[in-house]
Amino acid sequence: MTNDVTVMGLGLMGTALAEAFLKAGRTTTVWNRSAAKAGTLVAKGASRAATPAGAIAASPLIVVCLSVNENVREVLGTAAETLAGKTVVNLTNGTPRQARELAELVTARGGEYVDGGIMAVPPMISQPEALILYSGSRQAFDTHKDVLGGLGAARYVGTDPGLAALYDLGLLTAMYGMFAGYYHSVALLRTEGVKASEFTPMVRSWMTAMMAGLPGQAADIDSGDYVTDVSSLTNNAAGFPNLIEASREQGVSPELFVPFQALLDRAVAEGHGADGLARLVELLTTPQNTP
Ligand code: NDP
Repeated sequence: MTNDVTVMGLGLMGTALAEAFLKAGRTTTVWNRSAAKAGTLVAKGASRAATPAGAIAASPLIVVCLSVNENVREVLGTAAETLAGKTVVNLTNGTPRQARELAELVTARGGEYVDGGIMAVPPMISQPEALILYSGSRQAFDTHKDVLGGLGAARYVGTDPGLAALYDLGLLTAMYGMFAGYYHSVALLRTEGVKASEFTPMVRSWMTAMMAGLPGQAADIDSGDYVTDVSSLTNNAAGFPNLIEASREQGVSPELFVPFQALLDRAVAEGHGADGLARLVELLTTPQNTP
């Protein structure tokens, strides 16, 4: 008897994925390196597989969620002979290159491969707010999208298996950039006794107002026309040292923002001073010194 889906990897995220499938009424097989972690899922109705090969044999759809892709390669490698005719959906965080290599491994064995990026934390899984990005075999995604829909909002981004990881890392980059700015701003205000909880509503309003300008910047980036009547790179480069200097004077490390000053200075030195800030995208894709 085959089940609807197998989940391999029952860490914090894998357990949430398996629970979501069970909640959606899908017959589910689970496997984890440390077998004890399957206990609560088995109590909720999951079937336990003793080996990776048994886990893959149990269902047509194999959802994998391990720490890193090296683990995925290792685990699938031990059960390679069972992959023919199966769809592997790998939700482990990784790089586009790793996803493409895993796609080759699976398709060479007669399986279908879909890579995924989970834009959510475990408690969000199965809620519509949980965005899950997918790329790779379109046919395999279409066949299994109803089952995968039990994990959250499914968004297919293209046939290249590396694309989901690229979108995932792009979104994470935007998130970390925002957090970096927020942490620096709170550190600055705290030097004068302003509490984070007092200052944060102001930061939220400011960032929300700034984010409203992103579609306009996107249009500039796509057209390559960076002419601005709002705020030039020259003005930004001239004002930015205040941020660095004030940080040092207040006893706050400027380490997150020194590289940004260098990028602004390079933009002006390369003759782009009259352009808007979005011009920096072009400099990032023609780096002077790749660290
Ligand atoms: P956990 O650390 O909770 O779980 C890691 C899982 O990987 C466990 O099942 C562990 O097995 C397994 N594992 C590690 N090494 C090996 C190995 N060599 N062979 C077999 N299995 C191995 O991590 P999460 O569940 O939180 O994360 C899993 C993936 O999901 C990661 O890629 C993460 O980036 C991604 N993710 C997680 C999010 C989160 O908020 N947690 C959010 C978005 C993505 P064992 O129990 O035996 O150690």
